Amino acid sequence: MPQIQCVRCGQTEPQLERPPLRNELGERIHREICQRCWDQWLRYQTALINHHGLDVRDKPAREFLMANMEAFLFRSGETEDIDTSQKGSISW
Ligand SMILES: [Zn+2]
Repeated sequence: MPQIQCVRCGQTEPQLERPPLRNELGERIHREICQRCWDQWLRYQTALINHHGLDVRDKPAREFLMANMEAFLFRSGETEDIDTSQKGSISW
């Protein structure tokens, strides 16, 4: 199984078998995110769907999940503060 340097956890880990989404974000995840971090996102996504009672057939629900996926995996958007403050620790 090919290994990649994951941009999220910083470890060299197995790569996803294929892009998880048929869009640019999916390609980026495939290039930069390891299987383990993707699995963590899937668990988090399930929690989000349950918590907010989302119907993934709804476009707004999918857009909400896409935005959260990007923030969760790449720490963009509202998680930027966490990204800069976590340099001295590995708790995340
Ligand atoms: Zn990772």
